[in-house]
Amino acid sequence: MSVEIIPKELRTARACLVCSLIKSFEQFEFDGCDNCDEFLRMKNNRENIYDCTSSKFEGMIALMSPKDSWVAKWQRTDRFTKGIYAISVAGRLPNSVIREMKSRGIVYRSRDMTNR
Ligand SMILES: [Zn+2]
Repeated sequence: MSVEIIPKELRTARACLVCSLIKSFEQFEFDGCDNCDEFLRMKNNRENIYDCTSSKFEGMIALMSPKDSWVAKWQRTDRFTKGIYAISVAGRLPNSVIREMKSRGIVYRSRDMTNR
């Protein structure tokens, strides 16, 4: 696993609302989300980080081998980057972002288990 995607400061850790990747606020600001920045555009955009990530998440799984891990199958994260992922993320994406994803043919599945 590459070191830079492990949250350096868990105090400022946030989880992406789309893919559940956990990183520190600073890492999201510096790199955006490794999986979703194409449409979330969080790189150098604090406002989008606040909108599209959440500091309220539960459970952490290290995803080491995205292609064949059982975790990947369970979390449907087989195409995702290696890293630390949350099991449940509380929060809701802005409708504008959901629309943007839809227009790209991406189906958004909320990982907020408190809403189920
Ligand atoms: Zn993401």
